[in-house]
Amino acid sequence: MPKSKHAVLSASSSHRWLSCTPSARLEQEFSDSCSEAAAEGTAAHALAEHKLKRALKRRSQKPISPYDCDEMDECTDGYVQFVLETLSDVKKSCADPLVLIEQRLDFSDFVPDGFGTGDCLIVADHTLHIIDFKYGRGVLVDAENNPQMMLYALGALRLFDSLYDITEVSMSIYQPRREHYSSWSIPVPELMTWTETTLKPKAALAFQGEGEFCPGAWCTFCRAAVRCRARAEEKLALAKYEFAPPPLLTDKDIEDVLAKLGDLTKWAKEIADYALDAALRQGKKWRGFKLVEGRSNRKFSDETAVAEAAKNAGFIDIYKTSLITLTEMEKLMGKKEFQNILGDLVYKPPGKPTLVPENDKRPELHISDAKNDFRENMED
Ligand code: SF4
Repeated sequence: MPKSKHAVLSASSSHRWLSCTPSARLEQEFSDSCSEAAAEGTAAHALAEHKLKRALKRRSQKPISPYDCDEMDECTDGYVQFVLETLSDVKKSCADPLVLIEQRLDFSDFVPDGFGTGDCLIVADHTLHIIDFKYGRGVLVDAENNPQMMLYALGALRLFDSLYDITEVSMSIYQPRREHYSSWSIPVPELMTWTETTLKPKAALAFQGEGEFCPGAWCTFCRAAVRCRARAEEKLALAKYEFAPPPLLTDKDIEDVLAKLGDLTKWAKEIADYALDAALRQGKKWRGFKLVEGRSNRKFSDETAVAEAAKNAGFIDIYKTSLITLTEMEKLMGKKEFQNILGDLVYKPPGKPTLVPENDKRPELHISDAKNDFRENMED
């Protein structure tokens, strides 16, 4: 079943409304337009649900979507494999665990009108397993202290705690397009302490649209993000910089500006895109600005007529053939065959050097080594 209906305080947006309580109500002023990535995610979940049901010998009809592709097929196969392996582990200590797929979970005892849908639950003696399939590749998601999973846990405990003696909840996230898997467990009493001390008071504030606006990483998917004053103030505060007296910027000044630049340029682009979109779609006039045509390159209007005219004029060396791109080739052959046939002929050239924050996961480029290599090659 596709995930389409969302509560005001949904589990999937809980990281945001727990961090910035007024965001849930502010977001309601903006339409919930379904992005391409969200539609693709829904299609992947529907396929994953189907495959898992079939693997567990349950009835299901294969969903068809315009997003069907080899990658989605492989990712959903991997998810099913992951669930089956978890299930087989669980069976070592519990003969007859219960497996629920796309289960609606009601956590409204703790969050007003709160509900969500768990991708897969495995209910066994002592331990409740919650598995979440993430098809997105944009943001890496961890299971540790993940409020979405903790809310699902509360909804699942409400259903099964009286039937099974559950003492612990194990939460797993399977995110194949980032080759990422994350798992975390929490004893039930600890979960209930978090519920009483953090979740309930914040959910009550969020439902009323009260509390402090608090910008942070969670703003990324907030529907109010572009127009949010608190976020704009935070970004503009970043831009304010008190330079010391010397006429030239010091290294420290440049380091400070660099540290703020990524966040600022991203926000500035969002504002520019929003303003352009409003001007184009709604005819919005922004004082001091006007819409103009961007630069464009010349093109042939009719390639057949061009070839004809060129040949008639005696120019015959007018065609070139080129290979389709690597991605197109991989799609054409499928990942496995592509690897078999062309794997040895693929290489990855070094990327253009980029300055990134220290905590970036990529290894550091040692530019002095690269320079030395270059010099040695020249001297040989
Ligand atoms: S953009 Fe950020 S600060 Fe503004 S309402 Fe949304 S989550 Fe809160």
